[in-house]
Amino acid sequence: MNSPMQAFVTQAGARIYRIPLELFPQLEGFAHVVVTEHLIALVDVGSGFGDSNEQLEAGLASLRSQYGEAIDWSNLTHILITHAHIDHFGGLPYVRERTAAPIGIHELDRRVLTGYEERLATVAGRLTRFLAEAGLEPEEQTDLMDLYHLGKQLFASMPVEFTFEAAGMDLGPLEFVHVPGHSPGQVLILLDELMFSGDHILGQISPHVAPERLSLNTGLGHYLDSLKRTRPLADRTRLVLGGHNPPFTDLAGRVDEIWELYRGRLARVLEITGSARSVAEIAHELFGQTGGYHRLLALEEAGAYVEYLHQRGYLAIPDFERLEREQTGTVRYQRVEGEAYRMPGPASTAAEIGERHLRI
Ligand SMILES: [Zn+2]
Ligand SMILES: [Zn+2]
Repeated sequence: MNSPMQAFVTQAGARIYRIPLELFPQLEGFAHVVVTEHLIALVDVGSGFGDSNEQLEAGLASLRSQYGEAIDWSNLTHILITHAHIDHFGGLPYVRERTAAPIGIHELDRRVLTGYEERLATVAGRLTRFLAEAGLEPEEQTDLMDLYHLGKQLFASMPVEFTFEAAGMDLGPLEFVHVPGHSPGQVLILLDELMFSGDHILGQISPHVAPERLSLNTGLGHYLDSLKRTRPLADRTRLVLGGHNPPFTDLAGRVDEIWELYRGRLARVLEITGSARSVAEIAHELFGQTGGYHRLLALEEAGAYVEYLHQRGYLAIPDFERLEREQTGTVRYQRVEGEAYRMPGPASTAAEIGERHLRI
């Protein structure tokens, strides 16, 4: 924690300020201010939790005092949200009270902001079913659902003014690239040789992926497709500024690292499922003993791997007849013998590599 504020200038002269925020206890992240001759945009707004709003305010104040920028709430031109996770948009009510700048987000994440209560309620239903099938004790299911419902108090629905696809996926010198997976409407924002990556790709941690059954356009399949489409952008990207972790330069290398991490984890799941296993058992094998919110994240992550492999025919449900009769209870997955596991590389075919060079 306690990263310093950082400033960057692109070759074309855009100025970027990276404001550190304590989003939740033990979770540091960043809001960015982008200044070009066309616009002054705030990219993500923090969680609104704890001191996050005050830290955002202090960051803007230091743009004036340390960097001599004539920037305050009144001359911001846009508020851009990289994806609808609470640690990136929870500060919006605070921001809305201070600036009339239009708020923009991708279409597929809009209703998290505009129909927050509906969204929590519908996902809660699916999460309840997922946890029941995962093989948890009823008491533990209740504890995890209570934890999930805590999110209700953190935000109330509010309107947004524009969406990225409707805007043509660009805004002055900013280009948006839709990379669903970590969230349905996750975008990369490209500016000259810089990339704002939200949580799609981070320097040190692998982004959390949940099963798509909880929310369409998430899941490991979508995430890996997006990761694959991210790799060719390395040709034009010199620096990646993520929503967490320090900035990094080697985008292609980082794509490959994350790819290998998932390849390894999927192989491990297939190893574990020589005999039928529940998602809770697989999560325990992969991540060990976890508690609280980390427990929920570990179950979702394991659930995403199981979903990916099951959907592709590498895992099967041996006692599906019991499930059909009872319509409830723990679901156990077992490796399908004789199905050689193949996962393509992130830049796997000559055609794709050729395409990548054509686009330069
Ligand atoms: Zn996120
Ligand atoms: Zn985040």
